[in-house]
Amino acid sequence: MVPMAVGLNAEYYRLAAETAVLHVQRCDGCGAHRHPPRVSCATCGSDVWAWVPTGMRGEIWSWTVTHRITDPAFLAEGAFAIVVVELAEGVRVVGNTIGIPHEDLRIGLPVRIVLDRRSDTTALIDVVPD
Ligand SMILES: [Zn+2]
Repeated sequence: MVPMAVGLNAEYYRLAAETAVLHVQRCDGCGAHRHPPRVSCATCGSDVWAWVPTGMRGEIWSWTVTHRITDPAFLAEGAFAIVVVELAEGVRVVGNTIGIPHEDLRIGLPVRIVLDRRSDTTALIDVVPD
């Protein structure tokens, strides 16, 4: 399954698929990175910005483990963990964990982003130990 992204979110997923690097917005007015994508800067109000590559590294900021699977497409996978990662750039992204036992999840755990290319227009975020 892939997200049905539109607008700036579609650009975010397409850039990830095309470049194999996670990009976020950086304000040309004040230099602040931001995510999720939006038209103007919450810090200075500027609507001039650019997509910039991230270093794809950060720390777990929060997580949740889902045990109740409601979508039949995910029944075979069992419980899964979704994490919020604070990247070195200061923005937070959401991803699926790969290779991190649920009992090892903790705030501040160093992690790396790996992009899972699903189509020409979409790559999903996987999070692995760093
Ligand atoms: Zn700004």
